[in-house]
This record gives sequence, C-alpha cells and structure tokens, in this order.
Amino acid sequence: MAKKSSPRSKSPKGTKAAKAASAPASAEAQLVEYRRKRDFRRTGEPKGGTVRPRQKLAFVIQKHAASHLHYDLRLELDGVMKSWAVPKGPSLDPAVKRLAMQVEDHPIEYNGFEGTIPKGEYGGGTVMLWDRGTYTYGGSNPEPLEGLRQGFQKGDFKFVLHGKRLQGSWVLVRTRRDQNGRAQWLLIKHRDEHARPGSDVTAEHQTSVASRRSMEAIAGAEGEVWHSSRAQRSTPPDPVPRESSAYQRLMARRRR
Ligand code: MN
Repeated sequence: MAKKSSPRSKSPKGTKAAKAASAPASAEAQLVEYRRKRDFRRTGEPKGGTVRPRQKLAFVIQKHAASHLHYDLRLELDGVMKSWAVPKGPSLDPAVKRLAMQVEDHPIEYNGFEGTIPKGEYGGGTVMLWDRGTYTYGGSNPEPLEGLRQGFQKGDFKFVLHGKRLQGSWVLVRTRRDQNGRAQWLLIKHRDEHARPGSDVTAEHQTSVASRRSMEAIAGAEGEVWHSSRAQRSTPPDPVPRESSAYQRLMARRRR
C-alpha cells in the first residue's frame, strides 16, 4: 500500500514519448524552435508570448519572398500557429493538391506581421499578409477542438476557412516525412460552393489583404516593419545598429 514514486519523472528528456496524445503542449514549449532560429535584435518578427488565445481560431496566409517564393499557411491550435510552407500557394480547384511542408510553430502575434526580414537572417525576404481570418473545424468529431487536435496528430486535418480571399472546406493530409523528419502534407480544397475549378487564386490577388501593398512596395519600405496586429500600427522596432550590420550579416551567413 505504500505508494511508490513514479520512475517516469527521472529525466526531462523522456517527456517526448510520455506525452499524452491529447494533452496540448504549452505555447512556450511549442515556440522553442521558432525562437532558436531567430535573432530578435535583427529581425522585426514578433517573439510571441503576449497574445492570449481567444474564442475564435485565427488563420493567416503570408506570401513570403525568401530564397524561394512560397505561401505560409498558419492555423491556430493550442496557443500557437501551426505552420506550413506551401511553395505554390493554395488552390481553389479541388483537383489540385498542393505540397505543404510543415515548419516550426509560430506565435499568434505573427498573424500581424508584414514587412521585410533582413537578408542573411532566417527566412530573410519580404512577407505580405495575403489572407487572414478565422477558421473552424471541418470534421465530424462532436468536440471541435478535440477533432482538430486528433486530426493534426493523425495527419488528416479538416478545416473551414473564413477569410477575405479563401473560404470553405479544406483538408491537409500528411503524406510522409522527408530525410530531416519534416512532415510533408498536401493542401486540398474540398468540393463545396467556394471551390472554383480551373481558377488561379494566387494570381488573382497580388496585393496585401491588410495594406493593399504589392510585394515591391513592402520591400521598398526600407527599414519599416509593419504590424497590423489587432488594433493599431505599432512603432517600428529599434533600428539595427548600422555599423555592425555588415559583419553580422556575414556571421549569419557563416552560421548556415
Ligand atoms: Mn516562410
């Protein structure tokens, strides 16, 4: 009858396997990789940790002219934005399956980020807010949040977008992992009243959903980092110290 203490609490490194499937990780834990990859003295991207989850789940798509142009799809779940890099962007044609590479979870604050990440920094290049809004669960689980969590873990993530440019029912299907363990998914539009076979929605919309600016205009707004986050424009972050930036850029390149 003497209760023995659990041997499972011996090492914090053993938590990965022990973590229950349905227990959501904390936002802080999920953002470790995001923060490790970035130098917040150099980039205007948000560090995260200031936004509390609200009733409605947010989604955003950012057009990102990094070394390769792609669209970042982000869907809020358990306090962070689950994120995928979609090289060709979304398609409203249900016959089109778009490759979506899962990337590190991003902070919810990222939904307001539009601007330029300095060259040489992680993800360096111009970021445009291409679409945003909220999303809801698109599956049959009577508990929507549980359905989303299970769908994400099983690799069958069904959701309904309520954006400015994208609406209706979609699915992300996990297909495999690459040699680095990165999950590859396919982004597919379901057949519904919002499907448009043969259309090219990324070609139709070339400007920011938030600021109406083109990629060129965003890139041209030198040194400016624009945060649309919720309420107001915030002041730009402290400028990068000019005298050391060339050196820092060189070092950032060498770290790769
Ligand atoms: Mn990106």
